[in-house]
Amino acid sequence: MIFPPDIFPEFPDMAPGEVWLVGAGPGDPRLLTLLAVHALRSADTIVHDALVDPRILRLARDGAEIRFAGKRGGRPSAQQRDINELIIAEARRGCRVLRLKGGDPFVFGRGGEEAHALVREGIPFRIVPGLTSGLAAPALAGIPATTRETNHAVILAAGHRAEGDSAACAWEALAATGQPIILYMALAQLEEIVAAFLRGGMSPETPAAVISHATSDDERIVDTRLADLVAATRADHVEAPAIIVVGAIAGLRTVLASTMVKP
Ligand code: SAH
Repeated sequence: MIFPPDIFPEFPDMAPGEVWLVGAGPGDPRLLTLLAVHALRSADTIVHDALVDPRILRLARDGAEIRFAGKRGGRPSAQQRDINELIIAEARRGCRVLRLKGGDPFVFGRGGEEAHALVREGIPFRIVPGLTSGLAAPALAGIPATTRETNHAVILAAGHRAEGDSAACAWEALAATGQPIILYMALAQLEEIVAAFLRGGMSPETPAAVISHATSDDERIVDTRLADLVAATRADHVEAPAIIVVGAIAGLRTVLASTMVKP
């Protein structure tokens, strides 16, 4: 592939001691940004989370140190403080550090907290956005985030809250907006969330879709309606990671997916 230099000005060098917080998109390496590929080719140390597809890590340059720092199966296998310390220590020893996160680093990805820690330590960093799974997975399944006929807003919500965060999510109020809701990390709490949506006035007939392991060989898509959402995810043994779309946009898939060519 050729990148004409007038359209693609030189890619910024990753400087020693610098940290790049980069989004890896939903999984398929073809959905990486050019800057993400550039960072993968340049970094000395790559610190990635569990959602980063193994195909993407194969783009790392020879000799790069690849460290896993993330959470698996909902159980914390690395504390956020340890991850921050690792990134900071690697930068301090003069490494070019790539902190690679699934999707977009600033969408339910703790990128904000990590950036904050870097600021506190005076470490220079760069942000490279990625395709967030909540928009990319539905799009690839034939679900537009908005259409003029169905909605003028779209809500991205996390079903699972950080430990110690007791503030209840106002699910009823979100449902009452009448706008579609795209849920991340929601499988474990789905029953309560669905009940709250119904209390909030959402029709049990509201179309819903579940997309798990989007863009991987294990991708599964379940089409259902709000009333059957919990039963459908159980019947199909849907596993994390999964994006759940609730709202009229989910129903558009049956039409759009009919002649849509898979990536
Ligand atoms: N920063 C990420 C989100 C991290 S939170 C992003 O922007 O996409 C983790 C949640 O993201 C998962 O529980 C799941 O809801 C969603 N997710 C990430 N990758 C996914 C994928 N390939 N397929 C389906 N859901 C995914």
